[in-house]
Amino acid sequence: MHAIRPLPDQLINQIAAGEVVERPAAALKELLENSLDAGATQIDIDLAGGGVKLIRVADDGMGIDREDLVFAVARHATSKISSASDLEAIGTLGFRGEALASIAAVSRLALTSRSRTKPHAWRIEVDGGEVGAPQPAALASGTTVTVQELYFNTPARRKFLRTDATEFGHCEEAFRRIALSHPDTGFTMQHNASVRYRLLAQGRRARVDALLGDEFAAQAAYVDEHGPGLSLAGWVVRPAYATSARDAQYLFVNGRFVRDRVLAHALREAYRDVLHHERQPAYALWLTIEPRIVDVNVHPAKAEVRFRDSGAVHQFVRHAVEKSLASTAAEQPAVSASERLGVAAARVPPSRRAFTPGCSVTGCRCSTKLSEPSEPMDPTCPTLAIIRSASLWRSCMESSCSLKTATGWCWSTCMPRTNASSTSVSRPRLTARCRCSRCWCR
Ligand code: ADP
Ligand code: MG
Repeated sequence: MHAIRPLPDQLINQIAAGEVVERPAAALKELLENSLDAGATQIDIDLAGGGVKLIRVADDGMGIDREDLVFAVARHATSKISSASDLEAIGTLGFRGEALASIAAVSRLALTSRSRTKPHAWRIEVDGGEVGAPQPAALASGTTVTVQELYFNTPARRKFLRTDATEFGHCEEAFRRIALSHPDTGFTMQHNASVRYRLLAQGRRARVDALLGDEFAAQAAYVDEHGPGLSLAGWVVRPAYATSARDAQYLFVNGRFVRDRVLAHALREAYRDVLHHERQPAYALWLTIEPRIVDVNVHPAKAEVRFRDSGAVHQFVRHAVEKSLASTAAEQPAVSASERLGVAAARVPPSRRAFTPGCSVTGCRCSTKLSEPSEPMDPTCPTLAIIRSASLWRSCMESSCSLKTATGWCWSTCMPRTNASSTSVSRPRLTARCRCSRCWCR
């Protein structure tokens, strides 16, 4: 065996890059987290070639001073923590001080930034870990990081990249998680010069609608539970609308997307009695917890957390979700209008009452066709039902409604899967006219 010798810094950074920036999406996530930590209200993303060729993230955050630019791209240099005690209550998304150094070690990176108090911007370039001197630059505000030719100097890593389309898909997912977790920040994202997302700063509900689609939004039950030192808010999808894919499972702990076994188990348990075991619950949930009772320093990409009292958190989350699912089951008919009509994409908001033709509540638009889906609704309207649906009659629950023109549902025998699995009702007879996409009689 050879003698033991310390590794050069550049090689150390390239090794770290293997963990921190596994693929372009991971680099994008780190850059977005930095922008959010800098207090950005608007973040613009520009990608090319699935993020391998180019990732540019421009924000309007607080910026970096000229003298700090070199530290920003140095390993283990951070403005977010300074002592071991800070590690016990991390309030920022980043804290390890290694993302920019790792990305810069395996790409051609340019960091341009203008601190809010400074008259102009400065730019620093790093080519495969070689740091240049800061130069004056033009930038109105905030920070722009440009990452080009990711892994140009680590061909072994480059070989593991997939097609541009697949890598872009991963970038999109990383973007979706960040954009969902911070709805009060505006985002744009373009890939190969075509705009893919344009999200205004908005509330959680509007962001969920924009990113998770109409069906999720329409079938989701609201969760809002508070406990000592923690709270849970967001939406969980009614069991009847669960699918076999895990594609809409978003859980944020203090604004950070995590995959946590304790939380995932709590959710599965909450759905246990109402969901067929092959089906996956869909949810977008924000857990806010006292930073001192959660450790986020357990994973290089910060994708996992550890709770001080995981049993209590498990119980809290499970109870909150169970309560929300139970309340929608009580408020909604076992078979919703969309199920009866077999309108797969009908948007029926949960816990809303049936449509009544002729509603006269001021401001309520339930008797009109809505062209503007983000119109605020009148919360006092008893017929709030289906107003977000583009064509009202399709999802109307009122049997006598004259607007409803579709026929062919199986009123009496339709048995959605949840209902059948939670009670021991036997499979209903096939109804020839049934159009319900999830009906057991099919
Ligand atoms: P960390 O985020 O863990 O501190 P990074 O390597 O991601 O480590 O960033 C290093 C430092 O560079 C950050 O602590 C921060 O001070 C600064 N920085 C990076 N990106 C930005 C940005 N977009 N706006 C302002 N400061 C930034
Ligand atoms: Mg960071």
